[in-house]
Amino acid sequence: MANDVWVYIEHKDGDITPMSFELLGIGKQLADGFGSSVCAFVIGDKVDDLAKEAGAFGATKVYAVEGDVFKGFRGEAYAKAAAFLLEKYKPEIALFRATSMGTDVAAAAAAQLGFGLCTDTIGLAVDGGKVKMTRAAFGGNYSVSVVNEKAAPQIATVRPKAFAMGAKDASKSAEVVKESFALADADLATKVVEFIKSATAVNLVEADIIVSGGRGLGSDAGFAMLQELADLLGGAVGASRAAVDSEWIPYEHQVGQTGKTVKPKIYIACGISGAIQHLAGMRTSDCIVAINKDPDAPIFKAASFGIVGDYKEIVPKMIEKFKGKLNK
Ligand SMILES: Cc1cc2nc3c(=O)[nH]c(=O)nc-3n(C[C@H](O)[C@H](O)[C@H](O)COP(=O)(O)OP(=O)(O)OC[C@H]3O[C@@H](n4cnc5c(N)ncnc54)[C@H](O)[C@@H]3O)c2cc1C
Repeated sequence: MANDVWVYIEHKDGDITPMSFELLGIGKQLADGFGSSVCAFVIGDKVDDLAKEAGAFGATKVYAVEGDVFKGFRGEAYAKAAAFLLEKYKPEIALFRATSMGTDVAAAAAAQLGFGLCTDTIGLAVDGGKVKMTRAAFGGNYSVSVVNEKAAPQIATVRPKAFAMGAKDASKSAEVVKESFALADADLATKVVEFIKSATAVNLVEADIIVSGGRGLGSDAGFAMLQELADLLGGAVGASRAAVDSEWIPYEHQVGQTGKTVKPKIYIACGISGAIQHLAGMRTSDCIVAINKDPDAPIFKAASFGIVGDYKEIVPKMIEKFKGKLNK
């Protein structure tokens, strides 16, 4: 249907990346605004299980393109298939995750169709019969709302964790529409030779526990201590921009408006003051524990638990206690 809202189902090693379900959640809200349906579209070498899962998370229809050429992730092939589906069905808007894979497919598909693309969207709302897409601009100093008036569909990538997960109901299933889209290796200019996992890969966005450090750590040595605590708890290490700018830790760890948006079960902020731009990336964490030697630090206003003191004294005590509790 013309007003349908489409969600691209991103998957890796045969599993849907959980944040595709966030898109089904916000997609459903948008579709309700249009009185239409939220649909999923999936591309892969085997799509049946993926389509079933998308149905349980609220997609009413799943459009699928299947074939050997889609084994493993191959941006060029996926983008061609996505453009084919979008051109054929012309939904109101197509939402992709703002991840490397999602952005790769969305950007190439939009270019192929000659449509605009709104990247890293943090707000989506039906307004005047179109979806208004909001994103940060000018280094995060402004937010800007855009509507691609002439594009059908509009295309957006959406920042992970910017929206709540859609609800799962295993009894629900979607109608699956399998489209034949002939694509051979010979039609593609690129070939994926190998995937090499980064030795320093950090999956902050999906971590349940994050131990994060700021300028108050004083040096990169402080991060070694936070890493020990994070490893003990099975978590990941995050950072404020001040710590990243000081080159104590790489940018991929940065949390905040110009870093990653996270929503772990526990966020432990050490030596972080709680600037608005940092809070923008972590304030919806389930539980925030702040360690800061300044009792008036703004982070305490956002924290569920606050510890006033020097992290160099507190973090080693936490490590010792957790080792005892966890028998490590
Ligand atoms: C457009 C824009 C985008 C931005 N994007 C981001 C972003 O994505 N992420 C981000 O984090 N920031 C971002 N910032 C920067 C932000 O405004 C703050 O400057 C930054 O978050 C401050 O980092 P901090 O809390 O580590 O440092 P500070 O504000 O300097 O705070 C350090 C804290 O450590 C405490 N402290 C000192 N020593 C100790 C100790 N031994 N033990 C315990 N506590 C101690 C101090 O009391 C203080 O509260 C952005 C800014 C702009 C303008």
